Amino acid sequence: MIPVRGLSGARVAVLGLGRSGLTAARALLAGGAHPLCWDDTPAARQRAEAEGFELVNLHKSRIWEDVSRLIVSPGIPHLYPTPNPVIAAAMDAGVPVDNDIGLFFQSLATPEWDNLDSPPKVIAVTGSNGKSTTSALLHHIIDAAGRDSQLAGNIGRGVLDIDPPGGGGVVVLELSSYQTELARALTPDVAVFINLSPDHLDRHGGMGGYFAAKRRLFSEGGPDRAIIGVDEVEGRMLSNQLSQGQSDDRVLRISVARKLSGPGWSVFARKGFLSEMRKGRQVASIDLRAIPGLPGSHNHQNACAAYAAARSLGIAPRVIEDAMHSFEGLPHRSQCIAEAAGVVYVNDSKATNVDSAAKALLAFRNIRWICGGLAKDGGLDGLSEGLAQVRKAYVIGREAAGFALQLPGVDTSICTTMAEAVAQASAEAEAGDTVLLAPAAASFDQYDNFEQRGDDFISEVRARLGA
Ligand code: ADP
Repeated sequence: MIPVRGLSGARVAVLGLGRSGLTAARALLAGGAHPLCWDDTPAARQRAEAEGFELVNLHKSRIWEDVSRLIVSPGIPHLYPTPNPVIAAAMDAGVPVDNDIGLFFQSLATPEWDNLDSPPKVIAVTGSNGKSTTSALLHHIIDAAGRDSQLAGNIGRGVLDIDPPGGGGVVVLELSSYQTELARALTPDVAVFINLSPDHLDRHGGMGGYFAAKRRLFSEGGPDRAIIGVDEVEGRMLSNQLSQGQSDDRVLRISVARKLSGPGWSVFARKGFLSEMRKGRQVASIDLRAIPGLPGSHNHQNACAAYAAARSLGIAPRVIEDAMHSFEGLPHRSQCIAEAAGVVYVNDSKATNVDSAAKALLAFRNIRWICGGLAKDGGLDGLSEGLAQVRKAYVIGREAAGFALQLPGVDTSICTTMAEAVAQASAEAEAGDTVLLAPAAASFDQYDNFEQRGDDFISEVRARLGA
């Protein structure tokens, strides 16, 4: 645990008692603060009370007089569509609003760090898609290089729950736009911006607000090194603004859309090969096609981001390449779960939106595509390029017939249930086909979450294959 520094003796309100809120309350207590906890859900309050925390109804207006700070969880809106009433009241009362990420950066460094030859480093990863994969891959590479690494934030442990890192240690943080928008301290040593595509626009008042939220990671003190995906205009703008000139190697550009050249430092992937360029010459190259845990161009983008971050820590290209080969990927993201009679079965249940499903479709050939569920706004138009590889779609979900209607020109079968979809797809698949679950829809019409949907797919496949 990282005890929160600088708030000893202070009364600190904590709104939201899920994983990050409860961890924040514990870390505040460990640092000598007095947390006042609240969650609108009774079960969450009971959990906190069982741990001995003081519950205070933060909706009561007189509470703010002697409160030093309000800590909020990422799921609670602080700006758009409208601020949560507790947050609005704290802002009206002039109480600074913060989150666990802000507390983490304010508390991490200790006076002992002054005596260390190589003080710990924090690498923060953000982007619209690929954050978890990139963070997990980077953590795996650092670990394989024999350095102490901890994975935290949206993935792994809550940030304040990690062990205080020692000399040479690295903390890899996956950060969402909700977290970067609110944190009062945001000072990573290395910051990574993988990509940007529309997401969570209701929480950020549109695309400009969404970009601004992510960009704070690079502007609140500024990392020593910035790794920026330049395949969208926002990344190109950001890398331009952060750099002092063409050969400024504090900014490392990455791309999967084009060759990057020039005197600066860059990493790009083309036709399955990753290249590292520095001062106008190629210094390393990796054949990504041979790496089973990172299929498809979207994963090559994640590989470029993790490679660049590892290089900025001084890890050698060959060590990174070996570690990539032993990376198994994350569950529910392009996860190869079985192979039988020349047919590969892939679970990408995390493809809950059109963009991520389109990327999954582009990563495989001869696809028997299991799709459908609770459709998101905006329709399925973004899928068109990927549909070229689809031999047949097996549509699940309560609205399966309506979903299938949005796939003109695709051979479809209305299956409704996962059991039926897997039965049909595996019966019809031929050697060389891929049976791919990449729903392009949320799971809540039939499942609690995307993990449960992916697990159902896995158990149906195993039952069919008798595995
Ligand atoms: P995040 O943590 O940003 O949600 P994940 O690594 O969990 O990212 O992947 C989420 C979904 O997006 C998965 O369906 C995955 O296959 C897809 N995906 C992963 N990396 C990328 C990328 N670089 N670009 C687009 N889609 C991606």
